[in-house]
Amino acid sequence: MTSQLIRNPRQACKREYDLIVVGGGVHGAMLALEATRIGLRPLLLEKEDFGGATSFNSLRLIHGGFRYLQTLDYARLRRSAAERHWFLENFSHLVKPLPCMAPLYGKGLRRKSTLNLAIRVYDFLTKDRNLRLRPEGSIPSGKLLSVDETIRNFPLVDRSGLQGSAVWYDGYVENSQRVIIDTLRIACKNGATVLNYTEAKQLVSDSGQARGVVAHDHVTNTDYTFSADIIINVAGPWCRDLAKRFDRDEKILFRSMLAWNILFDRAPVSDNGVAVTSGKAGSSHTYFLVPWKNKLLAGTGQAPWPHESRRAHPTQDQTLNFIEDLNSAIPGLDLNSAEIIYTFSGLQSATTEGGKNFVTSDVFFDHSSKEGPQGLFSVSGVKLTTSRYTAEKALRVIFPGRSHADGVHDGILESLNDNSQVWDFSRNLEPKHGRWEDDLRQLISDESVIHLDDLVFRRTTLWENPGRVIDMAPQLCSLFDWDHDKSEYEIKRVAALVNDQRTN
Ligand SMILES: Cc1cc2nc3c(=O)[nH]c(=O)nc-3n(C[C@H](O)[C@H](O)[C@H](O)COP(=O)(O)OP(=O)(O)OC[C@H]3O[C@@H](n4cnc5c(N)ncnc54)[C@H](O)[C@@H]3O)c2cc1C
Repeated sequence: MTSQLIRNPRQACKREYDLIVVGGGVHGAMLALEATRIGLRPLLLEKEDFGGATSFNSLRLIHGGFRYLQTLDYARLRRSAAERHWFLENFSHLVKPLPCMAPLYGKGLRRKSTLNLAIRVYDFLTKDRNLRLRPEGSIPSGKLLSVDETIRNFPLVDRSGLQGSAVWYDGYVENSQRVIIDTLRIACKNGATVLNYTEAKQLVSDSGQARGVVAHDHVTNTDYTFSADIIINVAGPWCRDLAKRFDRDEKILFRSMLAWNILFDRAPVSDNGVAVTSGKAGSSHTYFLVPWKNKLLAGTGQAPWPHESRRAHPTQDQTLNFIEDLNSAIPGLDLNSAEIIYTFSGLQSATTEGGKNFVTSDVFFDHSSKEGPQGLFSVSGVKLTTSRYTAEKALRVIFPGRSHADGVHDGILESLNDNSQVWDFSRNLEPKHGRWEDDLRQLISDESVIHLDDLVFRRTTLWENPGRVIDMAPQLCSLFDWDHDKSEYEIKRVAALVNDQRTN
């Protein structure tokens, strides 16, 4: 078995699978991986590119669960800490601990005494958090900082009434796109088949039992039928559409709301992630500002989503309000919209129809429980952090007879670190025909790169330097077997994507 992502739908439709996973975001990738860990042969279908939708747009935090002490949600805290551990252990080349700080002003829960207690309780509840982790990947105890230390770490902090700050640690994954591709590579190495640009269109069933899926291959414009008795719809914001097409709509699966983060062409405000509260009257929204590759990434904006057909992106007003709010939280920040490099936006599930508060638990729906087809399931997950656990939980219910490792360590990912590569945009691309071209050619053939934007956005970090990527696009196209017209088309696709994310 190979860790290459081999895209051959014609061959793939001749095989038998134990399950078909529809959706190639982080939840689909984790389902494919977890299925192989219990000895199953999954097929994953993704209508566009792997990890290109919501999963590309997260703030990239692997939560450790400290924040759930506010709501005394110990189960969620323990689960997040366990999943942070899983990422730090198995993706140690991609996920690092991130110190996070919250300035304290003695109001509400943000008092030194409360936070001191919270840090101790968290420490106790996660005392096994560094088991087997390398020293550089381990999670230190939280701590309180004095006013002076806070100012040293976060010079722009609002100083009026400042009493110090609390520090805790989350995990951080700068190149979250690589987590998805590497997860798929390991799943393939262990027997999975994954196909991008293959859209599930129709359920195949027989006497009320799911038997497979008809899917459209967007590359060759061909329909294929893939067979399995278990189909898992994990299509993120599209999971209701798919549930409806295959059986029935289930509102509880996903009530859309808009969420976004903005990357600014500005040095980070601190080496830590910082949590700050809007200073606007009547607003208590907390923002999180993360140092991302020497730039400032801020989030998360939230708004109701009116089910418009336009792309999930904040309006110009929403963007300006977001910036105003950030400026009110940090006097002297003075961000402006000309500094926007990229807006990461996507749909998440809200607690109510038309609402703007995130749901906190994933949803698992067995369609046969409401007289739908046997073997059809829909799963709607809520966090990158808990995506692996959501997958494991779903498979435990669907395949109860299969023994599942404890989900923390089973060695299946050990080969990952050697195979993986983060192709860095800042890499020197001279001389003209250098090693870098061979490396990219290898990546194109190993990782199912169909379009230029797959390479630029989801296999490498080239997108981080939009000017350079447009300049070198013809050179990148020469690595593919494309004629002039195809290359022009691909360059336009990349240019449109780059421009789209900067404007509203
Ligand atoms: C702005 C923002 C910030 C966030 N920050 C964080 C964070 O810091 N930490 C964290 O843990 N979580 C965060 N999240 C949440 C996290 O990003 C999501 O929970 C997760 O990415 C959702 O993954 P998914 O696989 O369910 O959905 P998606 O990534 O949207 O994947 C679903 C896939 O299904 C495919 N699909 C749809 N229909 C079909 C079909 N018919 N056939 C085949 N494929 C189909 C789509 O093309 C898509 O690729 C954030 C979310 C947002 C929006």
